Amino acid sequence: MTKRYDVAIVGGGLVGASLACALAPLGLRVALLESVRFSVASQPSYDDRTLALSASSCRILQALEIWPAVAGSATPIREIQVREFDRPGRVLMEPGELDLDRFGHVVEAKVFGAAVMAQIPRWENLDFLCPAAVTKIDAGAELAVIHYTADGRDHRIQASLLVGADGADSFVRQSLDIETEKHDYRQTAIICNITPEQDHRGRAFECFTLTGPFAVMPHVNGRCGLIWCVSTDQAALMMEMPETEFLREAHRRFGNHLGKFLKIGRRSSYPLRLVRALEDVRPGAVILGNAAHAIHPVGAQGFNLGLRDVAVLAELLQDESRKGADANYGNIDLLTRYSDWRKPDQAGTIAYSDGLARIFSNPTRLAAAARTAGILAHAFVPSLRRQLAVRSMGYRGRTPRLAAGEPL
Ligand SMILES: Cc1cc2nc3c(=O)[nH]c(=O)nc-3n(C[C@H](O)[C@H](O)[C@H](O)COP(=O)(O)OP(=O)(O)OC[C@H]3O[C@@H](n4cnc5c(N)ncnc54)[C@H](O)[C@@H]3O)c2cc1C
Repeated sequence: MTKRYDVAIVGGGLVGASLACALAPLGLRVALLESVRFSVASQPSYDDRTLALSASSCRILQALEIWPAVAGSATPIREIQVREFDRPGRVLMEPGELDLDRFGHVVEAKVFGAAVMAQIPRWENLDFLCPAAVTKIDAGAELAVIHYTADGRDHRIQASLLVGADGADSFVRQSLDIETEKHDYRQTAIICNITPEQDHRGRAFECFTLTGPFAVMPHVNGRCGLIWCVSTDQAALMMEMPETEFLREAHRRFGNHLGKFLKIGRRSSYPLRLVRALEDVRPGAVILGNAAHAIHPVGAQGFNLGLRDVAVLAELLQDESRKGADANYGNIDLLTRYSDWRKPDQAGTIAYSDGLARIFSNPTRLAAAARTAGILAHAFVPSLRRQLAVRSMGYRGRTPRLAAGEPL
């Protein structure tokens, strides 16, 4: 017999697994389908990247009881410095300007994944199907049928609500015939851990270059997470460059803010593109996280945005669950409320990261002069700086309960 669920989430990455942890305590029957085991080195969501989480994301994770397992290896961000390579001026943002003692925390995606994976077995009403690759979807307003392969065999389940959290190349999105807007930045992010000579003291640095941002994030044990965006034609060269040469080049780009760079970890690379779905709901189905909006990592907003999708969807599903036997999790009115609530935040955050990525890679003299003027204005005008700090913390629209630190 085909097992039936209230919600089937395709994709157990950062966003899908967080949603499962939000829905399971509500008593909903949830299936989480993920094609790649957490323990496998090629797991695409829980890799070596460091994630800067905003204060509101930390509150969401606290409410989902994921935070305690992450907190021990999380590094507070106590200052953000922004500047442009080889140009005058810098903007220095401090959390006190927003009445906070930190902007958020930096955690490793792998550490986050381990914390989420530890939560999942707690819930009898949550079935984690992994490795399970979804291969076919029969979507319907009343019921979706999800086909997947596991152990070399075909299986299927049914769900009132189908959730696509399966990343930028979302199979769910394609099955629902949802169109996308795409832009290739022709940039590749190279990420690795580095150990600088001096203590980072919780400072995060973002230096803009014409090939994209060069960011140094504070991390545990005196290490820093480096995200270096280079033009895609240079990426292979940078990945293969001997370590000492790579460190020397990185130091040249960054300057002497933390002394010399002494050690480097394994390098990984990510070609950067914007993928934005033109719709996010259908009767009985919704897409969220990277499946709905994969954005440039400048400003470190992607997962923060996806977590706010999770917080809003979980809140609306909980309100629906109060109807008991009459609850209809796939009903289009509920999903439209989700979509309307999320639109301003998604549009604002996409415009912010896409705008930054494009403005700072524009090589014309006029654009360079405008950027310098912008940086100097932000350096000297506190109200502009506050606006930028609020933006860098993520858009603040109508706050879902989880983001306010309240239980659902
Ligand atoms: C270099 C870099 C740095 C970043 N830094 C930050 C940061 O500091 N802060 C921040 O907020 N964000 C950051 N991001 C963005 C963040 O990584 C993404 O927003 C986040 O990974 C999105 O999670 P997701 O779960 O939506 O998608 P993904 O991480 O892509 O996960 C999708 C999951 O779905 C699974 N899947 C796919 N297809 C199927 C299928 N058919 N069946 C079953 N499972 C399937 C995949 O195996 C995967 O586990 C960064 C991104 C990059 C590239």
